[in-house]
Amino acid sequence: MNKLKCDNCGEHQARIRHVSRSYGSGKDLLVLEGIPLISCPRCGEGYFTAETLHEVERIKLHREGFAEIKPVSVARFHHAA
Ligand SMILES: [Zn+2]
Repeated sequence: MNKLKCDNCGEHQARIRHVSRSYGSGKDLLVLEGIPLISCPRCGEGYFTAETLHEVERIKLHREGFAEIKPVSVARFHHAA
């Protein structure tokens, strides 16, 4: 996989890592797995693209359509494009 340009330091060292994040708490807890995080080993920066954050918001709004039946709601990051 090609390395990506880091928005922070400008070096082409960044890679995509897939991470999990949890949102909310209690019965509203949603665990989102496989979110692509741009991670730069050179400067240590890790960030989500605006497009990824937009998709995260969309999944949170429509969690019933994405979540699997588990003791906690777990959704997989799904990129529509
Ligand atoms: Zn960097």
